[in-house]
Amino acid sequence: MKTSTSMLQKQNMIVFSLVSLFYCISDHWSSATTGNVTNIYEYVPFSDVDDTLYPLSSGLSKACTRNIEDFMVEKLGIEAKVSETNRVLYRNYGTSMAGLRAIGYNFDYDEYHSFVHGRLPYENLKPDHVLRNLLLSLPIRKVVFSNGDKVHVAKVLRKLGLEDCFERVISFETLNPTNGTHASDDEDSFKLRESKAQILDASQSLLPETPIICKPFKNAFEQAFNIANINPRKTLFFDDSIRNIQSGKEIGLHTVLVGTSHRTNGADYALESIHNIKEALPELWESDTKKAEVAVAYSGKLAIQTSVMA
Ligand SMILES: [Mg+2]
Repeated sequence: MKTSTSMLQKQNMIVFSLVSLFYCISDHWSSATTGNVTNIYEYVPFSDVDDTLYPLSSGLSKACTRNIEDFMVEKLGIEAKVSETNRVLYRNYGTSMAGLRAIGYNFDYDEYHSFVHGRLPYENLKPDHVLRNLLLSLPIRKVVFSNGDKVHVAKVLRKLGLEDCFERVISFETLNPTNGTHASDDEDSFKLRESKAQILDASQSLLPETPIICKPFKNAFEQAFNIANINPRKTLFFDDSIRNIQSGKEIGLHTVLVGTSHRTNGADYALESIHNIKEALPELWESDTKKAEVAVAYSGKLAIQTSVMA
């Protein structure tokens, strides 16, 4: 009797261990994938720059916001609710610049960029040897997709020591023709801006359109894919902006939210730092041999790993 009780305890322990193992595997994959078959080694990393290739703690983002607000006051003559307007425009349009154009302000794009980015504390960015080695050892195409202007993007990549790590850079100028117009201050444009600014508070669906092509708008992604000759279904999109990630997900991209370990709606992966890329996606480094781990998940719960040689 004693023997059979002991055997029963052992069996229970084995069952418990197997159940625990199942939940461990299941949890691992539910935090790392959306549950679809994923030949991730075929994917093209398509990455944002600011606050994605370097951390938010660098202080560039904060300085950039300050410079944009200075531009609004000094160059566009906006006096009231500057910070609030900037926040609303950024939230609704992806960039403050796109929002300012939507509500009727007109200005020279190069002047805006040199004012806003020209005085950033680039000295805070140091060569990132870890990221450089990771990117250079990644045997697939890599593309940068930034809303920033080309001078800014080039400067950031140079400061980080990553200037030769990407096959192609898609920046503001890639998607937007230059605009040599200076600020318009006549009475008609003032009235137009007043009425459009009020619409911003009304409803997202009534938002005035912007002539600027930038993330998170679908046309920006479409143009970028055409230019870089990328298949959106085989794209691994890295960005620190939840809105950009959600927009990317809506158009079918595989998405990686950078800067947090908490996966939100629309993010297939979440990385506290871009440095964690190899831990989260080791399959990318197996691309040269066409060898990958394929995860087959059922209802996002059970995952079985198998090795595939192509
Ligand atoms: Mg960013």
